Amino acid sequence: MVQTFALSRTAANVHRIISTAALAVKQVQAEPTTLQEIGDSTDGDPFRVLIATVLSQRTRDPVTAIASSRLFSRYPDVKKLAKADTRVVSRLIRPVGFYKTKARRIKEISRILLDKHGGKVPEKMEELLDLPAVGRKTANCVLVYGFGKPAIPVDTHVHRISNRLGLVHTKTPEETEIELTRITDRRDWLDLSEVFVKFGQTICKPIGPKCSTCTLNSNCAFYQEKRAPA
Ligand code: SF4
Repeated sequence: MVQTFALSRTAANVHRIISTAALAVKQVQAEPTTLQEIGDSTDGDPFRVLIATVLSQRTRDPVTAIASSRLFSRYPDVKKLAKADTRVVSRLIRPVGFYKTKARRIKEISRILLDKHGGKVPEKMEELLDLPAVGRKTANCVLVYGFGKPAIPVDTHVHRISNRLGLVHTKTPEETEIELTRITDRRDWLDLSEVFVKFGQTICKPIGPKCSTCTLNSNCAFYQEKRAPA
């Protein structure tokens, strides 16, 4: 019979889990994520964070980093990108996934920012969600990395790890975001996503997670129920 494992989902325990994961990624010297780097290198310029996050959709971090850097060296701000030639933009951001569609979308976003928001990225979730190609994950990334506001961007890593640990039992990233915001302390929101993304890239990988050496295995439903020695 499969043993069921119930993880304590108090805010204090979730805080401990995030701290343990943060220490683990520090020890394996995980690289900063692309969005963290872009946020840091531009003093959190919300426009660049927004555009880089759109580029990052269905695209690996190193490819996003190269594409963003090529794009911003040619079109450094909203005015220039709004007027850019779509074919040139496509060429610069290739090979990010769906680069032709994204070239059109990021120009459209720039145009809307100029027409409706005075060239600025809005700080409200609802206004961000009105922009083309912006869903909750992208909007949350802009809030965290562009404005330093507490939010939880949920990508496939955050969704997978939260479910494996047993912090949430959800089917979609949107459900995971709602559940995580319910059980975590706001002070942990800024760190949670960044730490779990790095943890997912290096330790709790989609295939072949390093469970036997993972420092969270005594707190993990997946390990306790499926991998722990009997
Ligand atoms: S024990 Fe395995 S599944 Fe659980 S968090 Fe660690 S690596 Fe992920």
